[in-house]
Amino acid sequence: MNLAAANQTAATRLRLRITAAAETIVRSGHPWLFAGSILESNRAGQPGELAVIYDRKDEFLAVGLFDPDSTIRVRILHAGKPQTIDRVWWLARLEKPLALRRDLFDAQTTGYRLIHGESDGWPGLVLDKYDSTLVLKIYTAAWLPRFDEIVVLFKEKIPCERIVLRLSRNIQSIAEKQFQRRDGQIIFGTAPEGPVVFSENGVHFEADVLRGQKTGFFLDQRENRREVETLACGRRVLNVFSFSGGFSVYAARGGAKSVTDLDISAHALESAKRNVALNKNFSGMADCRHETVQADAFEWLARSTGKFDLVVLDPPSLARRAAERDGAIHAYERLNLLGIQKLARDGILVAGSCSAHVSAADFFESVRRAAMKSGRSFLELKILQHPPDHPATFKEAAYLKVIYLKFLT
Ligand code: SAH
Repeated sequence: MNLAAANQTAATRLRLRITAAAETIVRSGHPWLFAGSILESNRAGQPGELAVIYDRKDEFLAVGLFDPDSTIRVRILHAGKPQTIDRVWWLARLEKPLALRRDLFDAQTTGYRLIHGESDGWPGLVLDKYDSTLVLKIYTAAWLPRFDEIVVLFKEKIPCERIVLRLSRNIQSIAEKQFQRRDGQIIFGTAPEGPVVFSENGVHFEADVLRGQKTGFFLDQRENRREVETLACGRRVLNVFSFSGGFSVYAARGGAKSVTDLDISAHALESAKRNVALNKNFSGMADCRHETVQADAFEWLARSTGKFDLVVLDPPSLARRAAERDGAIHAYERLNLLGIQKLARDGILVAGSCSAHVSAADFFESVRRAAMKSGRSFLELKILQHPPDHPATFKEAAYLKVIYLKFLT
């Protein structure tokens, strides 16, 4: 389907009527309309076309992007008074997230999130900047027929050398078959030669933008990395689920005595070594011993001997589905108890969770339970949640939470 078809005239436009409960939710600004809330539609819809939602009085309620293959059937773009979704509208929509970021970062930070999905008004779409490379990641097939329209705006408003397309796993097949798009495709500019290098608070990192997890790096942990840097001086640091060693490089710059990266992936640890090398000019780095351990974290924490003064535990999501929530809460408690047992006296635990299905309150409780079970006396130092370039404007969008505990005994 082409764009002309997507922007149908009012006569044939896809019109939906929804349940009273969904009407209240959409009116309150929630960006998702689930398939089960649709009572009536005038015809079948195509991926990416605009769906107009009417209320019980037959008045305009909202407009959004239709996705026939997702249970989130419509991702709301706008609710309230009717608006025309045209180029001018999209330009204004782009300006908001860009304006926010302009005031957040200086030249020391060239890698950050420019657009964070629903919470920035671009449902199911993420745009990350790694220096002069942009990575566009999409989570709904609804964007696939709209690339020509939006990429032109990105190129116009965001100076860049290239744009890389990343696709969430669930849409890779439809992207390839119906739209000839694939994960890792360069949609503007030329392919990078090897990993892309960017800066974050003056620290240099590589990102595997073509194949790496997320868009190549965990940009959302920037504030926690900075925090770990300030806590690291003189400490032996264990970075569990290290990925490419982000926390460790900051800790080393902060004067850590040693940093140990632990990850199950050899590939991630190779990247961690390169990231340490990229920053060897910082004075603290030369005096800091860097080690990598390739192992399963639960298994290694349970069997290894030796103590650390700061342990970072930042696992992948332990609950991919709502049904996995209770199991994840137990796993967090078990994992954090193992981490606490690795801590020397006065040691600090930095415990993170990126599971949207586990609430911040439940996660913090599980870490506190682990701390109680350890029988040690502890203080709560701080809590950090979403950084400003990863806003979370509705409940389901809040996934990131990190708690800092210090063990006095
Ligand atoms: N802390 C990282 C991001 C962690 S991503 C950062 O700040 O950049 C999760 C990491 O956990 C991945 O690198 C993955 O390879 C690793 N991982 C997943 N399961 C693991 C396990 N059982 N044991 C050790 N590492 C694991």
